[in-house]
Amino acid sequence: MHSWFFSLQFRLILGFTLVLALALGSISWYVGFAAQREAERFQQEVEEARSARLEALVSRAYSARRWTDLQPTVEQAGALYGWRVVVTDQAGQVVGDSHMRFGRPPRPGSRFFPVLSGGSQVGSVAIAPSDAPEIAPEPPFSRLVTAVQRSLLWTGLAAGAGGILLISLISRRILAPVRLLSSAAHGLGQGDLTRRVTAPGRNEVGQLAGTFNIMADSLQQAEQQRRNLVADVAHELRTPLSNIQGYLEAVKDGLLQPDSATIETVYQQVLHLSHLVEDLRLLALTEAGTLHLNSEPDSLEDALRRSVDAVRPRAEARGIAVSLNVPPEFPMVEIDRTRITQVIGNLLENAIQHTPESGEVTVLAQVIGLVAKVTVADTGEGIPPEDLPYVFERFYRVDASRSRATGGVGLGLTIARKLVEAHRGAIRVESTPGKGSRFIFELPLARTPATKN
Ligand code: ADP
Repeated sequence: MHSWFFSLQFRLILGFTLVLALALGSISWYVGFAAQREAERFQQEVEEARSARLEALVSRAYSARRWTDLQPTVEQAGALYGWRVVVTDQAGQVVGDSHMRFGRPPRPGSRFFPVLSGGSQVGSVAIAPSDAPEIAPEPPFSRLVTAVQRSLLWTGLAAGAGGILLISLISRRILAPVRLLSSAAHGLGQGDLTRRVTAPGRNEVGQLAGTFNIMADSLQQAEQQRRNLVADVAHELRTPLSNIQGYLEAVKDGLLQPDSATIETVYQQVLHLSHLVEDLRLLALTEAGTLHLNSEPDSLEDALRRSVDAVRPRAEARGIAVSLNVPPEFPMVEIDRTRITQVIGNLLENAIQHTPESGEVTVLAQVIGLVAKVTVADTGEGIPPEDLPYVFERFYRVDASRSRATGGVGLGLTIARKLVEAHRGAIRVESTPGKGSRFIFELPLARTPATKN
């Protein structure tokens, strides 16, 4: 009862009933008022017509200065219309009385009409409602008004009841999807992310249901991603941890000497774990939007040059040529140098990693409109088209076994993308298998353009 009282359906019915009552009430009042006014006007017109007829009859009874058959005429008129009719002559003498009370003058409040003959007044007629009991009294016009009002009341009540029934059915039909939505939202809140709503029609409720389903989809997706992430993190931590465990157990059991080679191997595993944890921390910060950037107008060319110089010895040791191409007077870019260096370093590392001997890695910087565009291109193995859309996703590796062997866990490009996006930039990849890959990122130029120092 309590929840029904607060329900939308109850409020709709209540609102509709109030509107209906107001509409019917005002219509009944107005129709009653108009009927009353018309009945009074009609009654007045009837009285006037009757008076005119009586006047003509009385006038006809006067001829040759005498009243002939006047008394029966007034008696008949009085009986017919329920009036007391009194006719007086010029001297004020009563010459005809419908109620035969000749001694008594017409009642006060009577209506008077002149009796004309040959254009001059020969007497007057006084008419008043009869005070004697009538044989068959005429029904009063007020009965007509009461009857109209009663009919209106019944019609109103019937229309009201029909209207309430109709609005109950309509509101029930309209609100059915809302109830479904409410129950689905409840289920979602309880953790059942598979709940969806089917609401037909393109009305607001249908649109709401569509939006709800989209929300449920993304919640389910987010939940799936969270589960995957936990599983991926556990998986990535397990390998180095079990390696370390294996080595330490072998040392403990005396199967392996704790010499510098063993310690170095264990140390490398610990280092790998530490990088992984640091990558995850950075990823968590960028995804939560809480990574603090120390952005300032800086020389992108300088950052590129230092990164290229850092990887060149290793690249050249593998027979890979690394070149940098930056146009002169390159404008300043609003960057956090440490983070952008991390992005460039990651792209260069990947390029060298995936480029065979005597290959080339080229870094090209350009200014296009209000953005600085950096391309890191290699002549390596390339990325298969089916993998291209996913390379920026967490823990995605094109060739997992090879990638793991080189220490990669599939977080480098994810972090690079997050860092570039944190700088209000964008990153993308183009690749042709067997020919090479091009990673391109763009950053907005600093507001006050300045050339490098
Ligand atoms: P990882 O740390 O494993 O290298 P990344 O996120 O940096 O992970 O890269 C994701 C995957 O994209 C890698 O596993 C690799 O297979 C592929 N990839 C990245 N850069 C290149 C490149 N320059 N050439 C070919 N494949 C690449």
